[in-house]
Amino acid sequence: MELAEIYQSKMFGGVENFSPKISFEVFPPKNNDISQLFEELRILKSFDPVLISLTYGANGGLNRFSFEDLKSIRDLEFNLMPHFTCVSSLRSEIEDHIIAIENLGIENILALRGDIPEYIDQTSLDFRHANELVEFIKEKTTLSIGVAGYPEGHIESPNLISDIKNLKKKVDAGASAIFTQLFFDNNKFFHYVEKVCASGINLPVVAGIMPIRSASQIEKMTSMARVSFPKKLKDDLEKFPEDAKKIGTEYAIKQCLDLIEFGVCGLHFFTLNHSDQVSEILENIL
Ligand code: FAD
Repeated sequence: MELAEIYQSKMFGGVENFSPKISFEVFPPKNNDISQLFEELRILKSFDPVLISLTYGANGGLNRFSFEDLKSIRDLEFNLMPHFTCVSSLRSEIEDHIIAIENLGIENILALRGDIPEYIDQTSLDFRHANELVEFIKEKTTLSIGVAGYPEGHIESPNLISDIKNLKKKVDAGASAIFTQLFFDNNKFFHYVEKVCASGINLPVVAGIMPIRSASQIEKMTSMARVSFPKKLKDDLEKFPEDAKKIGTEYAIKQCLDLIEFGVCGLHFFTLNHSDQVSEILENIL
């Protein structure tokens, strides 16, 4: 099912008794043993996710799902949205990849620039920003396209408004939905949606939720992205690092309930390939 149909092209759910659409992100297992991931996915299936998104070389790594993996996951009767980053590939390679995705019968793709490795000469890139990739995918395929959004601004952007201007370029190029970076302060998300709306974008903004599993995650996240931590959450994690998972679960439940009250159209969980914590959160919010 395509993104526009899943979220009914709505920025907000908004109506009474509306339940946000639930989706999950997973990444390729580091040891290439996909059977454990399948077990987690089978558990998550009971929450009837509208889609499963699959990372592509995330965190500067090269780890990717093979086409065989995509087929096997699709055969579990999931609607897939593989991620794809254009920064390290040639136009011809990108064309081959997106056409192969479409030929697998997959309908959606998350079009990303990716992080630019230091060794790359940026003047040699075929695609310098995700809007160019969106335009290319639109030209070559019928895939429905998701793009990334950053409630606190992308780490390279001077400010939120300039980042949203660039988001608009992805939307004008043909994106159908925006999937956000993780965030912990819902006020940042509410402010973002308001600014996105004011910029003339009227697409679903799906909230990215990362339940905290360990206290050390904070340092890693803040070094990679602009993410604010509410003081109480930070203090609790510092005081009780051994209870990080419990604190993270309770926080995510409250965060999601607040987002649902706001009328968020979708909650996209960064599962880190674990079903236990996300299951507990969903059992408490749905
Ligand atoms: P862009 O939209 O190109 O933006 C990058 C920067 O350039 C921003 O600062 C933007 O303001 C600016 N910009 C954009 N367009 C223009 C323009 N036309 N002219 C001038 N400036 C412009 N990374 C991975 O490697 N693999 C993954 O699987 C992955 N999954 C992700 C999933 C989600 C939901 C999110 C939010 C991010 C994900 N990322 C992933 C991270 C992403 O690749 C990085 O954040 C990357 O640095 C930016 O990608 P982008 O598509 O947002 O780039």
